Amino acid sequence: MALKSYANEFVSFLNASTSPYLAVESIKKLLLSSNFTEISERSNWSTKVKKGQSYFVTRNGSSIIAFTVGANWKPGNSFSIVGCHTDSPTLRIKPISSNSSNGYIQVGVECYGGGIFHTFFDRSYGISGRVMINSNDKLIPKIIQINKPILNIPTLAIHLDRAVNQKFEFNKETHLLPIAGLENKAETLDQTKNSNNSKQDETSQGGCSDHEQGKLSDEEFHSLQTMVQRHNKLLIDLIAKECGCEVSAIEDFELILHDTNPSTIGGINDEFIFSGRLDNLTSCFCGSQALVRASKNIENESGIRLLACFDHEEIGSQSAQGADSNFIPAVVDRLSSILGTGEESIINKNHLYQSAAKSFFLSSDMAHGVHPNYALNYESKHKPGLNKGPVIKINANQRYATNSPGILLVKKCAELVKVPLQLFVVRNDSPCGSTIGPIVCSKLGIRCLDIGNPQLSMHSIRETCGTDDVASLVLLFESFWENFSRLEPTILVDAVE
Ligand SMILES: [Zn+2]
Repeated sequence: MALKSYANEFVSFLNASTSPYLAVESIKKLLLSSNFTEISERSNWSTKVKKGQSYFVTRNGSSIIAFTVGANWKPGNSFSIVGCHTDSPTLRIKPISSNSSNGYIQVGVECYGGGIFHTFFDRSYGISGRVMINSNDKLIPKIIQINKPILNIPTLAIHLDRAVNQKFEFNKETHLLPIAGLENKAETLDQTKNSNNSKQDETSQGGCSDHEQGKLSDEEFHSLQTMVQRHNKLLIDLIAKECGCEVSAIEDFELILHDTNPSTIGGINDEFIFSGRLDNLTSCFCGSQALVRASKNIENESGIRLLACFDHEEIGSQSAQGADSNFIPAVVDRLSSILGTGEESIINKNHLYQSAAKSFFLSSDMAHGVHPNYALNYESKHKPGLNKGPVIKINANQRYATNSPGILLVKKCAELVKVPLQLFVVRNDSPCGSTIGPIVCSKLGIRCLDIGNPQLSMHSIRETCGTDDVASLVLLFESFWENFSRLEPTILVDAVE
């Protein structure tokens, strides 16, 4: 793909990837069309994974690891890794979401991550994520995206709150509750019928009360309220239609709200991208595009080129599929002993430790571009500009995992493809974010550097980044994967035998 097309392609990726499940689907689609083979964590990889081939594996459908094994791979050789995250702050539909007030149908939502939630008012929301459906007695996931603007979180008119421009305060439980429609008679009757049928005390979440359960048949007994009892019937109807199944087949779901205002290229010279989820779908997109490019040139590669995109970074990475899980250590552990010839290999910790010592983790997450109206919030000598290249993030207190040998490596990779780089530290009187970098490198014991493209309004529902920076990050990652095995032995810190 021509470098200029990457920004347009990225906008399409953003619009398709409105939840971590959909982001993984988008990445899978690209990889499958580029000769990557899907493998399962449940299978034995030792005879399956071959030199010169590319693979990917998913966990929970919301995290994905893709890798290309060099043609000259040997057990104990290096891994060049780019890591990022698939999730963004959002609102998720609650387990029991059915709500109404003053004639409005409302849907209960739970805040996910550290969003700038005041930006979530007055937006038109669609729904996306995973629905578990019963298909011939098998429970299978269905990944959906409903782009119809179903929900909105209205602000209060200024006439009723004159102080709103001085201070906008709201309660995340009571004021951030979306409206989904107006109750009408038929709807009200339907819901009443449902709740009467359930004979359910509102204070109990169980499907059947104690004194009833002994009398009910297997079909009548439910350990939980049914989905129609827990959620608005019209909402469930819409979800069933999208899944192409009966309402009764919907067993559960993990659905989030997404802004239906599509991502777009903007600015007077098309220099910006306006979108939600730039943090961190930018790195997911650039990483997967670069790995596809780098997977085609591996005749002289002795290592494994690997991309890891994790869910749950925005809430601390501690989940079975987060960066703080064993997902990446398990993959590296399995691959470090692989022979790559089709012969059975035995996992050998010596190979793992040798690989770890030779490897490098490029932790890619968005950086704070300088904001023209709040420039004093930035350290005076470290103000990254949009479209001026990826930003190396440094923090003495190791909120970012960057050190000098890492900077030298990335600088060399950038120079080979003429990509400009920028440096960032926070002010001493400012808080500092963190990334998966310190988590993964302390777990694996490998070297690391934190990097990412500059953006404005991080964690707002509408963020801004630079158009040209997309291709710059693709080129930088590609250069990292193409050149790491050659450059790594030239940066000498610990003893090399
Ligand atoms: Zn991020």
